[in-house]
Amino acid sequence: MILAGPTGSEAAPAFIEVRDVQVTYGQGGAEPVQALADINIGVPEGAFVSLVGPSGCGKSTLLRAVGDMIAPSAGTITIAGTPASQMRREARIGLVSQAPNLMPWLRIADNVALLHELAAKRTGRPAPDVAALLQLVGLEGFGAKRPAQLSGGMQSRAALARALALDPDVLLMDEPFAALDEITRDRMGIELMRIHARFRKTVLFVTHSLAEAVFLSDAIVLMTPRPGRIARVITVDLPRPRLPEMRLTDAFARMVAELNRELYRMMA
Ligand code: ADP
Ligand code: MG
Repeated sequence: MILAGPTGSEAAPAFIEVRDVQVTYGQGGAEPVQALADINIGVPEGAFVSLVGPSGCGKSTLLRAVGDMIAPSAGTITIAGTPASQMRREARIGLVSQAPNLMPWLRIADNVALLHELAAKRTGRPAPDVAALLQLVGLEGFGAKRPAQLSGGMQSRAALARALALDPDVLLMDEPFAALDEITRDRMGIELMRIHARFRKTVLFVTHSLAEAVFLSDAIVLMTPRPGRIARVITVDLPRPRLPEMRLTDAFARMVAELNRELYRMMA
């Protein structure tokens, strides 16, 4: 399945290619858990794609497989034609998860540079412009602070800057704003969209919020209850740039309602 998107086509392999992927946890043990079955996705370069589905359907598992944090039990995953494992070794995959996981004793600027520094020993890639990254995520002037001096939203911004410091080809985001209050979360979504419009990283984004998925995405992958399969891929053809007011339009409400219906139908 090739998702619709900026550069998608049936002929060319997609930027992220997930082919016949299955993941079973505890394989060979007494109680194996099949988390994913028959996953086929092609994500075009630069696209923003969200994964939504019931809790436990394997969204995090799929993200972890694309990021080579776990190996699929079957199937293959390539990014830009390169195995995901090699992409991870070359630090070409950025990850942002729900917990910012900042090192409490390091200044924000050093936290942002940390993963890049660890990877640079292997990759030899040039150092990021930390000041520019902090400005990009709205943390200008906070580089010398420690994580405990920042709000939850600001810590999320720092975690995003840390992932962007790798200058990754792919950004994997697993419910990055789930721990934030709704207003902060909305603002983070708007910021993320601005950053995506500028850098055009290919993003795989997991969220529980259907409105967030519609607002941000080029396409939404709806997954079934465990073992997770792809139930449907919904193309979001709302025009870009998307302004916050767009969330008040009928077209937007219709898309969210349609997704909601699909989810309920699936879980009935
Ligand atoms: P989601 O992110 O969609 O909520 P997950 O990918 O975290 O779902 O989990 C999918 C399924 O796999 C769940 O049933 C979960 O309990 C199971 N699972 C996740 N991680 C592990 C693990 N390390 N060992 C065994 N089972 C796991
Ligand atoms: Mg999860």
